[in-house]
Amino acid sequence: MQIPENKYQVVIIGGGPIGIACALEAKKKGISYIILEKGCLVNSLYHYPTNMTFFSTSEKLELDNIPFISNNPKPTKREALEYYRRIATSNKINIHLFEKVTSVKTKADHTHIVQTTKGEYITENVVVATGFYDIPNNLGIPGEKLPKVSHYYNDPHYYSTQKTVVVGASNSAVDAALEIYRKGGDVTMIVRNPEIGERVKYWVRPDIINRIKEGSIKAYFNASLKEIRENEVVLQTAEDEEILENDFVLLMTGYRPNFGFLQDIGIKLSNDGRKIPEYNEDTMETNIAGIFLAGVICGGVETHKWFIENSRVHAKMIMQQLDKRQKTIVNN
Ligand code: FAD
Repeated sequence: MQIPENKYQVVIIGGGPIGIACALEAKKKGISYIILEKGCLVNSLYHYPTNMTFFSTSEKLELDNIPFISNNPKPTKREALEYYRRIATSNKINIHLFEKVTSVKTKADHTHIVQTTKGEYITENVVVATGFYDIPNNLGIPGEKLPKVSHYYNDPHYYSTQKTVVVGASNSAVDAALEIYRKGGDVTMIVRNPEIGERVKYWVRPDIINRIKEGSIKAYFNASLKEIRENEVVLQTAEDEEILENDFVLLMTGYRPNFGFLQDIGIKLSNDGRKIPEYNEDTMETNIAGIFLAGVICGGVETHKWFIENSRVHAKMIMQQLDKRQKTIVNN
């Protein structure tokens, strides 16, 4: 009997590091699979800032013990792209790029129909490894949609000599502020809390604190943006409202998973504000039989909880389950 081209034992949604890890494990276990990725290979990483360095050392980002050789202990974005691309191409990973999954419907016989922008797939299992980098946390203030405003920072050169406001005090905000300042940008940070985030990389935190102390980078603590205008921003401090001249605004206020997508599939989310998707911690299976979660998507709004380092293990957990189930069916 010929198996139809669009039929797989598992469809993996998302071609990030963890989706690729799942594919490697499926391949080893002889489980037929396909990855469906809406953008390019490791799409989220591709959109990280140009000069970004990972906080993890390279061996912690390795998949399936394939050596990740980097020039320094902590690899750069370029090196990571090279690494994951070589894994995908050398292992001939079955992946469709630029094909977005639009829905997953579960039928009465427990198979799943995965609908994409290019076609339809029938599968016994689905792994949702869609990450959290697509949807920024909006502030919901006037002017947020102006062309000078962005939730994604790429390269400092663009902001050279420009009055740039950076909102936030986590790693992304701090990296952007320091890089732009060092390329001649006039940087002002607006920070909701009384100090720079505690989770900022330990070797970067003193740098930003000292730049603020010496006045090279201006910072308003316990402050928030109220409005963004064409040539200025309005901010609210503990005491007062202030207006600053401004050319560009970077809203480094974090990102969150596509909760609507999870809910449309039928995955339950915790209703305590954290929106943690429901899954079994031993198998990674959600409340829907045959639908699994892998990677940073598992954290709900707590996007700092999971990263490549501690979530690559999900791939093994899921594929071990599928392998066990496959063997049980054969033996019965
Ligand atoms: P992602 O890499 O986000 O992959 C999800 C993929 O799913 C994306 O490619 C996306 O395009 C795709 N997708 C989404 N929706 C759909 C859909 N409907 N259909 C098809 N495809 C879809 N982690 C570490 O361990 N160490 C670090 O040093 C580190 N540094 C980081 C620095 C930054 C700036 C950021 C933002 C994160 C960092 N992380 C780090 C966290 C970690 O790298 C990322 O979150 C990582 O990409 C998670 O892998 P993932 O495969 O779970 O998700």
